[in-house]
Amino acid sequence: MLSDETMEKLTVLADAAKYDVSCSSSGVGRKNSGGIGNSQSFGICHSWAADGRCISLLKILMTNVCAYDCAYCVNRVSNDVKRASFTPEEIAELTIEFYRRNYIEGLFLSSAVEINPNATMERIVKALKILRNQHHFGGYIHVKAIPGADPLLIKEAGYLADRMSVNIELATEESLKLLAPQKSIKKLYLPMQEIKEGISHAKEEQGIYRHAPSFVPAGQSTQMIIGATRDTDQSILFQSEKLYNHFNLKRVYYSAYMPVNEGKLLPSLQTEPPLLREHRLYQADWLLRFYHFSAEELLSIQQPNLDMDVDPKMMWALRHLDQFPIEINKATYKELLRIPGIGVNSARRIMAQRRVQSISYDALKKMGIVLKRARFFLTCQGKYYGDSTISEAHIRQQLVPAETHHQVSLFELGAIS
Ligand code: SF4
Repeated sequence: MLSDETMEKLTVLADAAKYDVSCSSSGVGRKNSGGIGNSQSFGICHSWAADGRCISLLKILMTNVCAYDCAYCVNRVSNDVKRASFTPEEIAELTIEFYRRNYIEGLFLSSAVEINPNATMERIVKALKILRNQHHFGGYIHVKAIPGADPLLIKEAGYLADRMSVNIELATEESLKLLAPQKSIKKLYLPMQEIKEGISHAKEEQGIYRHAPSFVPAGQSTQMIIGATRDTDQSILFQSEKLYNHFNLKRVYYSAYMPVNEGKLLPSLQTEPPLLREHRLYQADWLLRFYHFSAEELLSIQQPNLDMDVDPKMMWALRHLDQFPIEINKATYKELLRIPGIGVNSARRIMAQRRVQSISYDALKKMGIVLKRARFFLTCQGKYYGDSTISEAHIRQQLVPAETHHQVSLFELGAIS
């Protein structure tokens, strides 16, 4: 039975965890309508396990008592907010209780930095040890690695957790200096490197010894806040690409900045979270991971921000019209992926179908290709199906109704110097 004190802490620390989106979904709106269970007030989120199953997680902070003063954060030391801290035993008890009641299948445990990184990480590791070794809890666990903590603690956590994340929060050193001066890119990269090495070492061991323990089997992730600073989409996407390439991250999550604090260096409290920009960054990130695009191809110093009117692949195509139209029956797989309206599955279907026979325009329709977009960028058996003019203005006019043109604030785009 959970005590009133634990439940009170839970209210504070589940609410404080909602700003962390580095697990896959943050919170659900399901209400209790008379039955048992209430996921709404206790921060239950969903994520995907290493085997692809969707699982519900208890999403909480170990503590919201923080020694740091990151300008954008509700838990910063200079804020007067209600504070609470769980003991490792309480975290374990809560997880087991909720698991037994069938509310959750796993735990997402994040934390502020109470006293210092080592003190916090020690408590995280202790909670995991109680769960895994005393309660023999086999459910999914995602924990934060606290930058600055002893590598041995990160290692211990890695052997107990399924996924770990180090939140980079801001894309550039300059932005960190400005808003989170106790952090630096170098300090944030260190635990990422340690996790990467731990994963590859465990894989090697498992290749030799069948029962060697796994280390962070679901990989590592991070989150970046979008719109708290003037960082451009280019700096954000370049940082993501670096994280994928150097540290083998599974995911970078983007989180539209929600103004919770007032400050000279921050957007005003009235600023709407830049949700469309967040969405476009997720789309661009998808292009990096699955469509063989590089950040450099998508954005440059001259064009540092994504287009809010069209998705990033269409944006790229409109900026490279000289590379179109592409003949569907001759294009390589990578070229097919560059055509707006053709996704990974459609490109694979085209490649497979082509081995049997030449593909007609009607056959493309049947394959589920979005020809409304794709027709401007391809030829099929030598014939072009777009309108007579292939120009950026014309295609935009056809695809973007005038009323949906987006006005994005200058601050949001980082355009104010
Ligand atoms: S370290 Fe984390 S919890 Fe503490 S102020 Fe910075 S972002 Fe907030």
